[in-house]
Amino acid sequence: MYRARAYSASSSTSPLASDTIARREPTGRDVQIEILYCGVCHSDLHYVRDEWHDAMPAVYPCVPGHEIIGRVTRTGPDVGALRAGDLVGVGCLVDSDHDCPNCREGLEQFCPNMVLTYGSPDSHGTAPVTYGGYSDSVVVDERFVVRIPSNLDPAAAAPLLCAGITTYSPMRHWRVGPGKKVGVVGLGGLGHMGVKFAHALGAHTVVFTTSESKRDDAIRLGADEVVLSKDANRMKAHAGSFDFILDCVSANHDVNSYINLLTRDGNLTLVGAPEKPLPVAAFALIFGRRSLSGSPIGGIAETQEMFDFCGQHRITSDVEVIPIQKINEAYDRLLRSDVKYRFCIDMASLRSE
Ligand code: NAP
Ligand code: ZN
Repeated sequence: MYRARAYSASSSTSPLASDTIARREPTGRDVQIEILYCGVCHSDLHYVRDEWHDAMPAVYPCVPGHEIIGRVTRTGPDVGALRAGDLVGVGCLVDSDHDCPNCREGLEQFCPNMVLTYGSPDSHGTAPVTYGGYSDSVVVDERFVVRIPSNLDPAAAAPLLCAGITTYSPMRHWRVGPGKKVGVVGLGGLGHMGVKFAHALGAHTVVFTTSESKRDDAIRLGADEVVLSKDANRMKAHAGSFDFILDCVSANHDVNSYINLLTRDGNLTLVGAPEKPLPVAAFALIFGRRSLSGSPIGGIAETQEMFDFCGQHRITSDVEVIPIQKINEAYDRLLRSDVKYRFCIDMASLRSE
């Protein structure tokens, strides 16, 4: 066991602050990673402030962060292909049971025994729970580590580990591609990746935003059209026309107004996870046999597939790189939808503290 530096929160109302945490020494198939960058996901904020208490109560102290990019520094004796110096990524999962039907299909995100990067019981017993990437290092089983294509900027690639795979996976599942009309609701960290993927997959892409100021960016990111969601006439003009809508909104909003935009058999997938349940109008689904579903992150094989796709298409996130000392300010800005389009922590700022 060794002590790593980290930023942790000690309660749902405390700011994140400098701390040290216990990490295990790399054994077996473990790799130790020096963290270079970690993206800031709205899930980090929901979790730290215990907004998901009923589904996933927070355990304190908590160290969030599941968009980790770093270099391998040490390897356990049974590690296969990874070597010290390799540029690698770790997303929302650090382990699973490897044995259930989901794991056998490479869908670890549905494993009943999956271990989240932060807040899951630590099966190694090093600490009460797992600690995430707002830290200078992490130790992870190599099976949950992906390779980063060398042509991608590491800071801009970090958000692919959650915002990227969470939007890529449902788009692949629902067969987003040429000839499909696709909506992306909420132009934040997830939404802006959703726009890039829908565009790269060849769909006609429409962004729904509450922020007039994001209109030009939405087009630059790959949208064919932008609709201000408070403009009732523009919303009505799209009624019954979408094959697929990805809802990336972090707060309560009227999901029925988007279900009504779906075509017959169209699907709206929720990836946004607001604190409170969203009311759903039965008739919005019944007329048109539309469906409403959700989707969690993605499996490891699909995450690697997404990175390879991003390497080929030169897709990364638009990041605002921040020192870790600005993390509490970044959370306040997330709540004001003031992020273009992902905060990413430069972990050199933690080492120089
Ligand atoms: P984010 O960067 O804060 O973006 C959220 C966007 O939602 C905002 O930029 C804003 O877009 C829109 N929005 C915010 N408040 C709104 C309101 N009151 N009404 C309507 N729109 C509003 O957050 P993120 O990191 O992308 O995460 C988005 C959500 O996905 C969070 O709930 C997060 O926990 C969840 N998430 C889920 C998964 C999963 O596996 N399913 C994975 C990661 C994250 P506009 O300014 O364009 O309106
Ligand atoms: Zn996330």
